[in-house]
Amino acid sequence: MNYYSTGDKKLKQSLREAVLRGLAPDGGLYMPERIKLLPEDQILSFRKKDFKEISGEIAINLFGEDLSEDEILEITDAAISFDTPLIEVEKGVYSLELFHGPTLAFKDVGARFMARMLGHFTKGMDRKINVLVATSGDTGSAVANGFREVDGVRVFILYPSGGVSQLQEKQLTTLGGNITALEISGTFDDCQRMVKSAFQDKNLNDSLILTSANSINLARFLPQSFYYFNAWARLPHSVAGSQAKNEFYVSVPSGNFGNLTAGLIAGRMGLPVKHYIVATNVNDVVPGYMKTGVFTPRPSIPTIANAMDVGNPSNFDRILDLYGHSHEAICDAMSAYAYTDNELRETMGDVYTRTGYLLDPHGAAGYRALNQHSPKDVGTPGVFFETAHPGKFSQTVEGVINSSVEIPENLLEASSKEKVSIPLSTGFSDFKEFLLQTGE
Ligand SMILES: *Cc1c(COP(=O)(O)O)cnc(C)c1O
Repeated sequence: MNYYSTGDKKLKQSLREAVLRGLAPDGGLYMPERIKLLPEDQILSFRKKDFKEISGEIAINLFGEDLSEDEILEITDAAISFDTPLIEVEKGVYSLELFHGPTLAFKDVGARFMARMLGHFTKGMDRKINVLVATSGDTGSAVANGFREVDGVRVFILYPSGGVSQLQEKQLTTLGGNITALEISGTFDDCQRMVKSAFQDKNLNDSLILTSANSINLARFLPQSFYYFNAWARLPHSVAGSQAKNEFYVSVPSGNFGNLTAGLIAGRMGLPVKHYIVATNVNDVVPGYMKTGVFTPRPSIPTIANAMDVGNPSNFDRILDLYGHSHEAICDAMSAYAYTDNELRETMGDVYTRTGYLLDPHGAAGYRALNQHSPKDVGTPGVFFETAHPGKFSQTVEGVINSSVEIPENLLEASSKEKVSIPLSTGFSDFKEFLLQTGE
């Protein structure tokens, strides 16, 4: 199957090309030419299968024309190394916990899958692929972790010196092996500029195979559809009923909207989502579009839910494309809500006091939007995504609940290891020289 560019549908590429390139040559985003509907009895059978098995079947539906079933299952078996359990927070309201992966955020699923798919495509090549990532914190660690020990792939991760939290720095700089951390004496924007320049440098691209691993890569966003099916499959029988048509709400804390887009794709594959609920912080470009029909990107504003501090959501073009650019069709499918830091704190405190369930600031947005949208529809279960472990945002969370939060072992482990980074200036020529010397 081919993948077309959202910029120009006539511009098509194979799965392999699309994954290796990331972005289409015209700057558009790749979309699958067809999204195949799953038979109802297959969807129903997910009730008896675990997350890994479900993931394998969805991946075969998505990629089965290009890779053999064995190849796909090899990728999902290695990538889906943890569960995404569904927890009932209160009657009819469920949290899908996406934070049980190695870096305790949902990006682990997409990053691990993409790494293994890249590894597959580079098998038999005599050169390695060099993945360049600029990070302001969290994304980098999910990507770096996902690519760890994947044959044929080297990762160079650029982060601003002094610009990430101590814990985040440890997560980036203690992986070793095929992961190299470059500590740049500048800002995140400098890191991003250096990576962009590398992709445009002819000389560098003649000597090395370079690729990016950011969230616009289709191998990162499409696998996120797996856990939407798991959410539905894990709803208790008494709540979900016995038919594959029985609907549920799903509420997604959103920044770049890759996660939500994967959910829309899950719907096209037959998942019975009654309505999509989008939750953002005050970076409310998409809620604004829902109200006015006009999409107006603007600089992002820092919030306590900082993984959603995005002023120009990169996957929005994919959403427009899925709905033929119809504002009406988009409003039929989804509703969007935006919350201030105070509202997020209020929700975290309220839910903790009433139910004992501890939300992180992103999950709090998802919970609140779900309840704001569907309070009267008690017959339809609602699932919100808990996209990060509350321990990752312990300062904020502890400030709200007035007691300490358990920091998960994964995080503690990294913080006890020795930091290894290579300091570099913000000059492109230094970076280029370094890549030419060390890239393979
Ligand atoms: C990245 C991230 C988000 C936003 O996801 P998008 O796919 O960019 O919309 C939400 N919550 C957490 C914790 C994240 O890391």
